[in-house]
Amino acid sequence: MPRFFGKTVIITGSSNGIGRSAALLFAQDGANVTITGRNAERLEETRQLILKSGVSESHLNSVVTDVTTSGGQDLLVKSTLDKFGKIHILVNNAGAAIPDPNGVFGTDQGVDIYHKTMHLNLQAVIEMTQKVKPHLMETKGEIVNVSSIVAGPQASPKSIYYATAKAALEQYTRSTAIDLIQHGIRVNLVRPGIVETGFMTAMGMPDEGAKKCYNFLADHKECIPVGVAGKPEDIANIILFLADRKLSSYIIGQSIVADGGSTLVMGMQSHNMMDIFKS
Ligand code: NDP
Repeated sequence: MPRFFGKTVIITGSSNGIGRSAALLFAQDGANVTITGRNAERLEETRQLILKSGVSESHLNSVVTDVTTSGGQDLLVKSTLDKFGKIHILVNNAGAAIPDPNGVFGTDQGVDIYHKTMHLNLQAVIEMTQKVKPHLMETKGEIVNVSSIVAGPQASPKSIYYATAKAALEQYTRSTAIDLIQHGIRVNLVRPGIVETGFMTAMGMPDEGAKKCYNFLADHKECIPVGVAGKPEDIANIILFLADRKLSSYIIGQSIVADGGSTLVMGMQSHNMMDIFKS
């Protein structure tokens, strides 16, 4: 029996990247899956990928919507219940570092960018959690949130609002985990480092430029010690682990870092002190 057989999962942001990979793995492992995103074409790519892997149409629910809207969130919940009857797992994965159209970074970014960033990366997670909670109470289900290494404790001066939103998401995850465990609902979080997805393109970077950035970071051991950018499935596998009560039942409100070693490196270590001493 596949390990998620009979379980129903909603994965936000599954029209691309990490969410797409998680949707494929859950579906291949027997789950009923609601996939979603705003971009209909990309969402259809996810749907086709899953169908081509041998999963039946009856295990899939595809919803084009904006997860920051109340109507979109309601549609996700209602269409999932209409098709599958129950909800066992919510993966709050949709997220982005929303770019300032004026090309401004750091403290001068507009407050409108702050609001949009918090809305997508934090508020939508709060709202989805509230709306799915009664259904997860019924099934004693799981929530997995997707944060980022920008949550800290290192600074992220170029993307202050995104980092702030992810840091807040981490505290929200810990606190929600303790509030909801009394109802049998587990909440945990994965904290990815650099992963090759549509993330940089969503920030306005052309595909070629994004590829160049991923290669640069992978080639510099002080950026990614393991020497390679992460693949979506590196994170998706952790999402499945945290959603699998048989494997991770005693993990409550924790975060798993998967970053190829990036956050363990200190800038000063990229210089050889003996060379400096001798010069
Ligand atoms: P992608 O850009 O590849 O995927 C992001 C997904 O979120 C897409 O499916 C996109 O769908 C969806 N999304 C964005 N905004 C909305 C919205 N308003 N409504 C509905 N869906 C939305 O990036 P990743 O796969 O990398 O990102 C997944 C998560 O991982 C995010 O939370 C991100 O912050 C986090 N992360 C990523 C890292 C990386 O290096 N890639 C590093 C650390 C964390 P659509 O465009 O169709 O709406």
